[in-house]
Amino acid sequence: MQILITSGSTARTRVLNFNHAQLALACTALLVGLMLVSGLVYHFVFLTAAREGWPVVSQLVKLVVRDEFAQRDRFMRENLDAMASRVGDLQGRMVKLEAMGERVTGLAGVKVDDLKALQRDAKPGGSGGPYVPLDHPTLEQLNDTITQMEHSLDQQGDLFTLAESRLFEKRLSTLMVPNSKPIDMPVGSGFGFRSDPFTGRAALHTGIDFAAPPGTPILAAAGGVVLSTDYHPQYGNLLELDHGNGLVTRYAHNSRILVKTGDLIKRGQPVAQVGSTGRSTGPHLHFEVLVDGVPQDPARFLAGGPPPAMANATKR
Ligand SMILES: [Zn+2]
Repeated sequence: MQILITSGSTARTRVLNFNHAQLALACTALLVGLMLVSGLVYHFVFLTAAREGWPVVSQLVKLVVRDEFAQRDRFMRENLDAMASRVGDLQGRMVKLEAMGERVTGLAGVKVDDLKALQRDAKPGGSGGPYVPLDHPTLEQLNDTITQMEHSLDQQGDLFTLAESRLFEKRLSTLMVPNSKPIDMPVGSGFGFRSDPFTGRAALHTGIDFAAPPGTPILAAAGGVVLSTDYHPQYGNLLELDHGNGLVTRYAHNSRILVKTGDLIKRGQPVAQVGSTGRSTGPHLHFEVLVDGVPQDPARFLAGGPPPAMANATKR
């Protein structure tokens, strides 16, 4: 390519020669320069217009910015709504769990007083409350709801812990109630007034008797701790087991006692052997159940569970 430059005063013409590569380079340089300049102008004009409030341009700028805010707002709104729907779903499931928790704790025997204490300790505003689905909530509302759910969950956790401990107590008390037969033999002489085999006079028989050959193993009627293993003029070799809650069992007239004071005993564990020591007319086990030191009819325990009067005593 040739470019001719003619100067008017000297009437001389200069010829400039360009090849293709040079031309392309020149064009690119021009383009880049133009873009830079227009960018700078745009930046300068819009910034200054927005800052100084030029009539038309600043309104345009405001429109653009407002649109951007609206878009961001819409995005946030959609996100919040999605979160709210999930939180609402969680709330619904928690309400179901709460209802189930109430039924379970009721079955476990958690008392109304315990529940009241729990509710009293609950932080203000955190006590379950009715399930209100959130409709287009603000971030704060969503936050509050989640905080409430946290408190409610804490409370539910406490409730279940309470129920667990009550259930455990119940299990323990059934473990400790002497309702296993110490010997698998029919009962000979029952609890109550009978004519004393030695004096012939009416006297209270404070336990039940199982006639059995000497040496027959005697099994603990419930889990407990060995209270004493002393010789007693009337009971002979007497074994006493403490089952807690004021419950004690006595196994009398033993030929041998197989455990020591303080030993932990499991239900059904062999603890002694039948004999005829003490005030006895022949080999047999004299079995007593005492509640707070008062002899009870052991047959009622062996028949299954403590009698109603005992049910109160075991609750202490
Ligand atoms: Zn007896």
